Amino acid sequence: MKENRNYYREFLKDYNKIRSETPKDELPKLLLHICCGACSCFPLIFLTDLFDITVYYTNSNIYPESEFEKRFEALTKYVEFVEKACKTQVKIIKDTYNHDEFICDLLPFKDEEEGGHRCKICIEKRFKRTFDFASSQGFKYVTTVMSISRNKDVDYLNMLGEKLAKKYNNLTYVHSDFKKNNGQDIGVDLSKKIGIYRQCFCGCEFSK
Ligand code: SF4
Repeated sequence: MKENRNYYREFLKDYNKIRSETPKDELPKLLLHICCGACSCFPLIFLTDLFDITVYYTNSNIYPESEFEKRFEALTKYVEFVEKACKTQVKIIKDTYNHDEFICDLLPFKDEEEGGHRCKICIEKRFKRTFDFASSQGFKYVTTVMSISRNKDVDYLNMLGEKLAKKYNNLTYVHSDFKKNNGQDIGVDLSKKIGIYRQCFCGCEFSK
């Protein structure tokens, strides 16, 4: 039987431990994978007082490149809003766009429905790249905003984060379910109010 885990509660537990490991006058440094401006709306507001955040935009799944750039622009616009509204600073790192190479592993599953094997590979590739970057750049904590989406399997995301963290002895995965506490609805309202681009497909050409 499938275990019924509450990843919001697990986030709170993780954060208590993180706080106890971090000097009182510092915010723990988090590398946060973000897939687009729209999905960042609630997580960034929620996390901004808790972490010193660096955003990592690694999303070579998106097609075409103009769409990749459009989502990045939306993210940049929203980060500027958060910095102003919350009097904080959020760094953004944009990974190179390499769709042709990225898509090769997905091609055998191109005709699958969204949420199947293709998406698992796609998510793992982006997550692994985020962990690699975090590990090489001296981050200690890492997570993704993707649990905000009702189309993503929250168990898969969190268990993948746990699995990857075991391979990097210098990294801790921070559990999340940003949908909890009305996160998704708050995010949608915020994006509409501020005028953040909301795309109508997940990202790859097969989801269009
Ligand atoms: S539908 Fe979304 S998650 Fe699935 S393969 Fe395409 S871009 Fe990746």
